[in-house]
Amino acid sequence: MQHRDTDITLITPGAPIGAHTHGGRAKCLQRLARLNLPVPPTVALSFRTVQAIAAGDMPDLRALLSMLGDTALLCVRPSSEDSDWGGPRAVLNIGMSDAMCAALAERIGSAAATRLYLRFVESYSIHVARLDPDMLDDMPHAPEDALAFALRVYLDETEEEFPQDPAVQLAEVLRSMARAWDGTTARLLRQAKGAPADAGLGLVVQEMAIGLGNGESGSGVMQLVNSKSGARQITGRYLSQSQGRDALSDAKGALYLERDARGPSLEELAPDAFAELKSHLFLMREKLREEMQAEFTIENGKLHLLDGVRVARNARAAVSIAVALAEDGIITREEALMRIEPRALNELLHRQVDPEASRDVLARGVAASPGAATGKIVFSAEASQSAAARGEACVLVRRETSPEDIRGMHAAVAVLTERGGMTSHAAVIGRGIGLPCVVGASSIRFQTSARKLTAPDGRVLKEGDQITIDGTNGEVLFGQAPLLDAGHDDSFQVLMGWADDVRDIAVRANADTPMDAKMARNFNAHGIGLCRTEHMFFEEGRLRVMREMIFAGSSPDRAAALERLLPMQRDDFADLFRIMQDQPVCIRLFDPPLHEFLPSDRAGHRALAEALDLPLSTVTRRVEALSEYNPMLGMRGVRLGITVPEIYEMQVRAIFEATIKVAGEGVQIVPEIMIPLVSASREVELVKARVDSVAATVRSQTGQDFAYLLGVMVETPRAALRAGDIAPQVSFLSFGTNDLTQMTYGLSRDDAGRFMSDYVKQGVYPEDPFHTLDLDGVAELLSIGAERAREASPGITLSICGEHGGNPESIAFCRAAGFDYVSCSPFRVPVARLAAAQLAV
Ligand code: PEP
Ligand code: MG
Repeated sequence: MQHRDTDITLITPGAPIGAHTHGGRAKCLQRLARLNLPVPPTVALSFRTVQAIAAGDMPDLRALLSMLGDTALLCVRPSSEDSDWGGPRAVLNIGMSDAMCAALAERIGSAAATRLYLRFVESYSIHVARLDPDMLDDMPHAPEDALAFALRVYLDETEEEFPQDPAVQLAEVLRSMARAWDGTTARLLRQAKGAPADAGLGLVVQEMAIGLGNGESGSGVMQLVNSKSGARQITGRYLSQSQGRDALSDAKGALYLERDARGPSLEELAPDAFAELKSHLFLMREKLREEMQAEFTIENGKLHLLDGVRVARNARAAVSIAVALAEDGIITREEALMRIEPRALNELLHRQVDPEASRDVLARGVAASPGAATGKIVFSAEASQSAAARGEACVLVRRETSPEDIRGMHAAVAVLTERGGMTSHAAVIGRGIGLPCVVGASSIRFQTSARKLTAPDGRVLKEGDQITIDGTNGEVLFGQAPLLDAGHDDSFQVLMGWADDVRDIAVRANADTPMDAKMARNFNAHGIGLCRTEHMFFEEGRLRVMREMIFAGSSPDRAAALERLLPMQRDDFADLFRIMQDQPVCIRLFDPPLHEFLPSDRAGHRALAEALDLPLSTVTRRVEALSEYNPMLGMRGVRLGITVPEIYEMQVRAIFEATIKVAGEGVQIVPEIMIPLVSASREVELVKARVDSVAATVRSQTGQDFAYLLGVMVETPRAALRAGDIAPQVSFLSFGTNDLTQMTYGLSRDDAGRFMSDYVKQGVYPEDPFHTLDLDGVAELLSIGAERAREASPGITLSICGEHGGNPESIAFCRAAGFDYVSCSPFRVPVARLAAAQLAV
């Protein structure tokens, strides 16, 4: 391969250097040079040159050395296209030899020169000649003896004298760095960070500014913001008589930068260099349009800027930094929005396991609801409530959860289940109330009746033992892991406001209770897109009435029980309407199979018989009568609405009466009533007739008028296909992609967690379809449904309210398909608002 002129280039303001040809570091150094900052002379080697070097074709290094001034020491640093992709470690002090050491001793003193030489021999031996670091363990203390020792080890192990020619040293350093980039581990590591298989490596060869010797000499790093909060704060360290990033590893001798009560500072030691450095960083911020960290060296009082890298930051700092840059007019608001990965907002909304802490992982499952919490293991909803009453944090551990567990879930700090996937009960509720949750942890043995868990490595955990649930990563950790608090500040609110200014698809929240609704408002959702009303029946005092209704022998008995539920539901809806003020609220009529409200074991049946004053046999017979082989495909949703119409009649009456009640208080609401699990147009016809008739009755009984909208939840493939028949009867269609995914794949949403990771690992599914909308199959049903609905009823409102509503890729699909809004759990609303905004930028 021929080395072209542009492949080895002295960095000057006009040199042809690109991030795609020479890497990000080379490009950044060129920008610094353009700003006239004191960057030492630097040569950039292109990706192509480094590739050729790895293949054994070394360019003319004498020419390269003469570009840099023949007597200088050099360092070589990696310059990959994206600094996150890593690269081999930098090698400093190339050019140190016996002769150079003697010459330098004249200038900086013999001790400092010997230290530099020793440092180079060590790093060359380990990183270039690949000697075992252990061989240098018994190094004598005196620097001269240590140097002699290191040179001898080199000779013994390589059977060659330590190379004295700088060109030879440089060639070996370049070769070893070029080859390290091609190693399998390095390749896998960078691919895991998103690098393409053919990602290139550039190298920069820079004249060293020596941080050792006479006058004030040393090195350090500096940035203008705090990496954890993003707050404006000069951060970094400086260490006299040091090189590279020594100041960060030697906490003892390192100085603060700015004057600081905690100890001596660079500002006091070298005020001019400090002021110069600070102004360089402000200039970099403005011209590079980014918060940068500078690596600098002071050599005999003179400042050199060796490198600039983007400040490392967590999500919270990323938001503050982006907002501050836009507020200062350095970047546009749109750019600020584009700089934040929507999912990263989860870090601001939930507590997290400290990413720097070590983790004792017991097992992994599905990361079903983000955030982390530590608590004592409890195995039942009752135990969870008792623990909460004692003020103890507990983790509710169940094989799977059911609606009965809701109060236990509210009382717990986290939930762990053996079964389930992204849309199983625990996952949906967990996300809804912001509770960290790991489901489908089937590698753990759940022995809930014996009240213990056995981890895959054999460790046994009993009730009361502490575990930490990391719902962000899907990990179950032993004991108490260090957690970082959630925290969002003004910058977050400002960024969200900008997102709303550009966004062109609305974001509503799935909210079932007044608490959820408040959360939805806090996160600025544009109304409620799905209120799952059945959750209201598990509140204290209601379950019993609900059960009486289920056991009612006759229609009047059933009506009597429903009559008692009516005021409770009316209050529920009135509360929701008041909290949401004039925002839309979409209420889904009762959806689950009735058996979910009944106990499942014999003891429970007995207790129920006692409570309802019925013979045990009546209870067991009724439970048996309600049991189904496949309840999710059975008597639920609109099927129940048609066969037991009194439930829906009670609910719509409660909705209408609540509408009238809050209207009297000045809250104008047009409730949206949604029919679940529809598969035939006639179902809609029947329910619509009843809803209209209840409305007429309420109007005539109260003498008050009100408006409402009726809609259908498209959750069965047939409803999507027949959307053309259904649409003309209603005002809106909302795609319930949880059930629609379940039914399109024929895949149980409650059991899929067991094999989902195998399926994804083996490439059967590209991703969990309950998490990311399946664009090839399920989304095609959405497109067909939307198209047929619009053809038949052009003004119809279209939306999605399955869990996919909070997923950025799925939102992109909904926006492209012209949907009016997406609806997702309250805690996912900010993520959805930002993702939607990015699509519109
Ligand atoms: C759905 O099926 O997508 C849905 C939102 O309803 P649920 O999760 O309550 O079944
Ligand atoms: Mg559903």
